[in-house]
Amino acid sequence: AELPADPNETNEVRQVSKALFSYVNPTKPSNPKLIHVSKEVAELVGIAEDEIQSDAFLNVFSGKEILPETRPYAMCYAGHQFGNWAGQLGDGRAINLTEVEHNNDFFTLQLKGAGKTPYSRTADGLAVLRSSVREYLCAEAMYHLGVPTTRSLSLMLSGDEVLRDILYNGNPAYEKGAIVCRVAPSFIRFGSFEMLTARNELKNLKDFVEYNIKHYFPEIKGEPKEQYLQFFKTVADKTREMILHWQRVGFVHGVMNTDNMSVHGITIDYGPYGWLENYDPNWTPNTTDSQNRRYRFGNQPQIAQWNLYQLANALYPLINEAEPLEKILESFITDFESDYKTMFLSKLGIFTLSKNDDKIINALETVLQLSETDMTIFFRNLSTIQKTDSIGNAIEKIKYSFYIPEEISGDILDSWKKWFNVYLERLKTEALSDEKRSEKMNVINPKYVLRNYMSQLAIDAADEGDYSLIDELYLLLQKPYDQQPEYEKWFAKRPDWARSKVGCSM
Ligand code: AMP
Ligand code: MG
Ligand code: MG
Repeated sequence: AELPADPNETNEVRQVSKALFSYVNPTKPSNPKLIHVSKEVAELVGIAEDEIQSDAFLNVFSGKEILPETRPYAMCYAGHQFGNWAGQLGDGRAINLTEVEHNNDFFTLQLKGAGKTPYSRTADGLAVLRSSVREYLCAEAMYHLGVPTTRSLSLMLSGDEVLRDILYNGNPAYEKGAIVCRVAPSFIRFGSFEMLTARNELKNLKDFVEYNIKHYFPEIKGEPKEQYLQFFKTVADKTREMILHWQRVGFVHGVMNTDNMSVHGITIDYGPYGWLENYDPNWTPNTTDSQNRRYRFGNQPQIAQWNLYQLANALYPLINEAEPLEKILESFITDFESDYKTMFLSKLGIFTLSKNDDKIINALETVLQLSETDMTIFFRNLSTIQKTDSIGNAIEKIKYSFYIPEEISGDILDSWKKWFNVYLERLKTEALSDEKRSEKMNVINPKYVLRNYMSQLAIDAADEGDYSLIDELYLLLQKPYDQQPEYEKWFAKRPDWARSKVGCSM
């Protein structure tokens, strides 16, 4: 059917009240070029393989053409940024193209970097190749690591130049513009609810919560108030699971503002994210947060809870009772702590609980930080240890994870010996054979993650027009738990040149 023209349709920057979205048209890119497609995601949303190379695919997922009978829109939301209320934010550079149903699943297809929307504030609505490669690859890597996340369908060049506030020799630096199409059940954020409550649009709030329940959590039943509480509990549970996975694989989001928290408990908005290399709970990839380190690795569970407090406040007018909300918030941390313990023990190949296990975990978290130790390599190589290994042998097997091998002497070596002594004794009390334990550990501890330097190499090559490394990393990270002898070079510590390199947000 022909859609009626909307007289208010405009991309003009503005405050938008009494609405959760605004219709908006993507800006036409001048010369779009396809860099990469995830065939898996294409299939997931029902796009046939032969359609991928078509002009229609290029045009639709670069924003050049709008699919017939669809109306793209940008969502309006608010949020707390770095702990402060920020008011209306909204999709400043994201545009939802459409929703599709395929094999009984619903997906929202969203372009990022396709131009200004009413929510662009002072920015340009665009994305550069650098940040787009990072988002495109990381989302798919996370999915294959088993971490709840948005997916990536396509990565394109827009053919336009984008100005970022980086001055090189005093001159403005232009970068290649890019557009990613990402996919999720929805892109609804905690901030969507916060906005309605802050504006006292309580009827919209109620309708919106009910919309979420009906479309995304239909298993929730009962009296309205009971449903709203169940909804909050479900979001809290899903968020907890997501954070647990982040801690398992060493992922640091970097900008856990409430506008970057999905109601589905999926990782969204890959900006200055990073992966722990040397195990350091205080590390954050976000240079703008290097003072407070609010979004440091070790603080992610507490921040998730803080963000859920904001969601609880937003839902409060529908519930009018603090206690049941508080109970859910309190159990968020207690449940997390117990899940974290089980998860951490499983990374160690310990699948039963025993009374001294907290000590083993705490002692390891300390010893890992005495001298820079690569998190991914340490846990991966730990699976090669046998119950009958001597302490010396065991240390030999994880030695590759040390960034500064010379430091592993004296007190530091003694601390490692002490820890391995306890660990090896503990392993002997586990019923699993070395072989079985190793197998189980190797689907918990990835061999390959998207280290910052890897993205950087792919970005540098892509900037020169060579996209082969993007494809190589994409393929590698589809099987992060497998031995991939042809890619052994990626099972490596961060090189020295990448030591202080951090993620980028723009
Ligand atoms: P982020 O912290 O990256 O998720 O972004 C915070 C807010 O800034 C969101 O409302 C984004 O849509 C908006 N934003 C970020 N980058 C841009 C950009 N280049 N143009 C317009 N809006 C942007
Ligand atoms: Mg965001
Ligand atoms: Mg962002």
